[in-house]
Amino acid sequence: MGAPGSGKGTQAQSLVSRYGIPHVSTGDILRKEQEQGSELGVRAKQIMESGGYVDDETMIAMIRNRLTQPDAANGFILDGFPRTIPQAEALSKLLTEIDAPLDVVLLFEVNNEQLVKRLSGRRVCELCKKVFNVHTAPPSVPPACVGDRQEHQVVQRADDAEETVRARLEKYEEKTRKPVSGFYSYTGLIRTVDAEGDITEVTRRMFDTLAAGSSEPAAAAPVKAVKAAKPKAKAPAKKAAKSKAKAKAKAKKKARAPARAKASGKPVKKSAAKKKAAPVRKGKAKAKTKRAPARKSRPVRRKK
Ligand code: AMP
Repeated sequence: MGAPGSGKGTQAQSLVSRYGIPHVSTGDILRKEQEQGSELGVRAKQIMESGGYVDDETMIAMIRNRLTQPDAANGFILDGFPRTIPQAEALSKLLTEIDAPLDVVLLFEVNNEQLVKRLSGRRVCELCKKVFNVHTAPPSVPPACVGDRQEHQVVQRADDAEETVRARLEKYEEKTRKPVSGFYSYTGLIRTVDAEGDITEVTRRMFDTLAAGSSEPAAAAPVKAVKAAKPKAKAPAKKAAKSKAKAKAKAKKKARAPARAKASGKPVKKSAAKKKAAPVRKGKAKAKTKRAPARKSRPVRRKK
C-alpha cells in the first residue's frame, strides 16, 4: 500500500528480484487494457485520467483472474490492490479459497507535497517505457533508448497532471489509507516503511522492516482475529493472542465472581463487584471484535 508516487511499484521490483514471484499491479493491468483498446481499457481510461477508482466489482474479478494463474501459485506481490474495504474483504475471501494467505502488508509513507512534486515531475518514455523525473532523474544524455540510440520520447501520463495528482491523493487518503490500513492493522500484518528519499535507501529500509518483524504490536489484534489464525501464523502473533485470550477469559471469570458468590452466600469481593459494574468496556470490546474482519483477513503467510 502507498499513495500514488510513493514508489511502491519501484520497490515491488526489488521484491520480485528477491523472492522470484510475480508483481501484480492493477494499475499496470489497466494500462495494458487501455493499450489493447479493450472494452475495460476504454472504460477505465476516463476514470484513471480523472483520478477516480475503477469499480470494485471489475477490480475484484480482475484480481481473481490474475491470482489464479499458474505463475502466482508460489506467491505474488500485490501493488495497488486492495484500494477499498470491499476489495480488501473480497481479497481475504479469495486468498482463503486459494489457500494463499497474506504474509505482510507494507505501507509506504511519503508526505503529500513530496508526492505532488514526484508525480507531476514524472515523465515516461513512450518507446522504452523508462520512467524519468524532471526534478531528480531527467532523461540520460546522450539518449539511448531503443536500438539506434533513438531519443527518449518522454511524455507526462495524463493522471500525473498536477490537479489530477491532488485528486488522486485525496481519494487515496479517504478511500484507501485510512480504511484499508485500519482493516489490516487488526491483523497485525501491517508494517510502515518511510518511503522518503533515495530509492536505494528506501529499498534498504523495506528489507530491514521485513527482516525485523512486525512493527505493530501483535497484541493489538483482537482476540477473534487471532483465534481465526491458521497454524502457520507467525509465532509472536499467536503467542500474544493466546495470552490476550487467556486474560480475557480471566477477566470474564472475575466479572462473574460476584454473582457466583452471591448465589453461594459468600461475601462479594469489592474488586470483583467493580469489574461487573463496567459494562462499557465489555461492550466496547465486543463492538471492536465484531468490526474486525477476523476470519477474512487471517494473519498468515503466502503459499509456500
Ligand atoms: P496505479 O498505477 O496503481 O497508481 O493505478 C492507476 C489508476 O488505476 C488508479 O488511479 C485508479 O484509477 C486505477 N486503479 C488501479 N488499481 C485500482 C484498484 N484496486 N481499484 C480501483 N482503481 C484502481
